[in-house]
Amino acid sequence: MSKNRRIEHLGSAKRIVLKVGSSLLAASPAGQPAAIADEIAMLQDQGIETVIVSSGAIALGLHGLGLKSRPTDLPSLQAAAAIGQSRLLQNWEHAFSAHQGRIAQVLLTHDDVSSRVRFLNARHALRALLSAGVVPIVNENDTVAIDEIRYGDNDQLAALVCNLISADALIIYTDVDGLHDADPRHGGVRIPLITDIDEQASPVAKTTSASGVGSGGMASKVAAAKNAASFGVPTVVVPGARRGILLSALTGQDVGTLFVPKAQAISSRKHWIGFGAKPAGQLVVDDGAFRALQKGGGSLLPAGLVEVLSDFGRGALVSLMTTEKTEFARGLVSYGAEDLRKLCGCRSDEIGARLGYTYSGEVVHRDDLVLL
Ligand code: GLU
Repeated sequence: MSKNRRIEHLGSAKRIVLKVGSSLLAASPAGQPAAIADEIAMLQDQGIETVIVSSGAIALGLHGLGLKSRPTDLPSLQAAAAIGQSRLLQNWEHAFSAHQGRIAQVLLTHDDVSSRVRFLNARHALRALLSAGVVPIVNENDTVAIDEIRYGDNDQLAALVCNLISADALIIYTDVDGLHDADPRHGGVRIPLITDIDEQASPVAKTTSASGVGSGGMASKVAAAKNAASFGVPTVVVPGARRGILLSALTGQDVGTLFVPKAQAISSRKHWIGFGAKPAGQLVVDDGAFRALQKGGGSLLPAGLVEVLSDFGRGALVSLMTTEKTEFARGLVSYGAEDLRKLCGCRSDEIGARLGYTYSGEVVHRDDLVLL
């Protein structure tokens, strides 16, 4: 496959999600995070932000429960995860300390991403961490949710995090060198590029991880790639233990398997914002804000807000209207209607003084806005 194709999809990534699975971390609990931290520090120097989605809590917690192998009952798995999670974070902390890097623990569930208010809460918190130069280490909150323990090893969670932070690429580390056209132990060869996941990837995704410490497999990685593609995000599945693999993937080397989203795919979330649901209210904006938003790529700031029609809560879907009351965009609001009325025309740095708190400097962030 041409290097150009890879560069096109991965070369300009400014924000990535890196998913690291249990089997890699169990094989090398200290060495693997150290090697990853080295590469992420290099990316940070180039202005690339990374969120790590790390499993491995169960694998690291088995010993604390007096177990040698992975139990089958869910409460024991959850108990192991609760024990192992602090060890997991200690390992990451130690790895990043070599670069004076800072990390943060973020525990999420799938429900956190499907509720609009919690989605925004998580998004704002992750954004604040990234802009402070901190590397968030995300895992599923296994005490209250069991989706990933049952069948994902965090692969789906990683795809959802791509949506949460509007990532440019998802990199999934695994213990084989990509997706194969048949079992690699029986002569299957690596497929470098997948352009149609349903047709080309799903039928050959049965190759599973052999380590037995995590719950994922190639099928779950392909499902995650499909989910990421629905948000318009390319995924590359690479052999995580190989030195320098992250930089190789991002600089377009022919490693692993690249899954590309269908051309011009509008993310399913943006589709939902723009066309799928009924707005709960309307925001009238001034001409300056209208013109700035029409150019594309901007957020709606309180300075451009003129009037708030109807009542709605934080995270609601609203229509953006010109002063002539023509709808031109839709988006999710960072504040409820009552608060927004107090913010009409104010500067972003005055939000705290007017409300007593600040969720974000935008009324509608550009990632949550669709022009009609
Ligand atoms: N959240 C779990 C962990 O970190 C998922 C991994 C698994 O299913 O084994 O251990």
